[in-house]
Amino acid sequence: LEAKEEFSHKTRAMDVMRPRKSDPPLTVITQDTMTVEDVETIVTSTTYSGYPVVVSRASQRLVGFVLRRDLIISIENARKKQDGIVSTSIICFTDYCPPLPPSSPSVLKLRSILDLSPFTVTDETPMEIVVDIFRKLGLRQCLVTHNGKLLGIITKKDVLKHIAQMANQDPDSILFN
Ligand code: ADP
Repeated sequence: LEAKEEFSHKTRAMDVMRPRKSDPPLTVITQDTMTVEDVETIVTSTTYSGYPVVVSRASQRLVGFVLRRDLIISIENARKKQDGIVSTSIICFTDYCPPLPPSSPSVLKLRSILDLSPFTVTDETPMEIVVDIFRKLGLRQCLVTHNGKLLGIITKKDVLKHIAQMANQDPDSILFN
């Protein structure tokens, strides 16, 4: 019992977050450089509930979080109803979209579906605290940063699996909602 308690104290956000070391990197969307087609490829090739939006892949500075279903609906609507939105249109999550040459297709502005203050913890945060935050704030996901750079994500299900592991239970036996 003592050993387990000690272990649970030592587990930190970095131990529970995805991606794990051997996993492919986090799937992110950049704030003003991806096209409609790029984002459509992301939502069709992955099943994640949401995606962090970053300034650029190189910087990994977090701008916000966008839900998969909001992206799908907004792009579908824009393609149907908004003039000039095509596969090569740039998607822009910022207030001021970068100026493009006059010949380029219309920009799709999606700032309104971006959650500008997604909950974040640092990679060193003890999981005890993360669990507490999920419970108290009713979070569905939380982003993990190190020195202000985005590192990973922890979902509610990741937290429940972690709790189940701590309790030495079969994760599948816990009812997820
Ligand atoms: P759930 O955890 O409820 O199944 P998701 O489908 O969003 O929710 O996530 C599935 C797994 O993928 C989780 O372990 C989560 O940490 C991870 N994950 C979620 N979003 C992303 C993302 N954008 N890039 C990489 N991994 C992610």
